[in-house]
Amino acid sequence: MNKTYLVEELFEDIPGDVDNVMFKIPPEICESQGWGEGDTINFKVEDGVMIMKKINSQPQTDQDLAYQEYDAFVKKMEETYPAMFTQSYGGIAVEAGWWPIIESLCSHIQSHIDWKNRQGDVVSQVTVTQIKEKFGGLRFYYDGGDDVVDGMVRMAEAWASQACEECGTPGTSRHGGWIKTLCNTHHNLRESRKQSGV
Ligand SMILES: [Zn+2]
Repeated sequence: MNKTYLVEELFEDIPGDVDNVMFKIPPEICESQGWGEGDTINFKVEDGVMIMKKINSQPQTDQDLAYQEYDAFVKKMEETYPAMFTQSYGGIAVEAGWWPIIESLCSHIQSHIDWKNRQGDVVSQVTVTQIKEKFGGLRFYYDGGDDVVDGMVRMAEAWASQACEECGTPGTSRHGGWIKTLCNTHHNLRESRKQSGV
């Protein structure tokens, strides 16, 4: 890059702050270095030159964090209950408020199967075929198991129909568009989002 900058183009006093100075980074430098709004740049003086180094990236959005939490949850489930997640099942398509219910369900199912099989009463391994939300309720579809497993699944689905899908606190079925089981807080949040069109 071949461009000359005047000192006063780059540096500006900060009114009322004698210890620090404002450095206005020319846009072409931001672009060539990949620096953006929200980045933190470390400036270090060495042998009369200033070394500038980006020390972090832009803050992660709530959406990024939500995806990471989801991936971590799915990974944990598949690693803890490998025998249950052997076929393609399309992911755990429900919000985080129901994850503890699913985790508890899988734990009880696997314990039951392992215990039964130790007694010599062979129960076929449960494998998940689909986990999703439908009409505001949890749906847990699977192959294998026995009547006890069936009862556990019904119990978990009944529990989910009383728990906010977003946060897990007591909730009820909410109509108006897509039916969801939500607590008052998340119901109001959804209503206000609907009104603002977000
Ligand atoms: Zn909630």
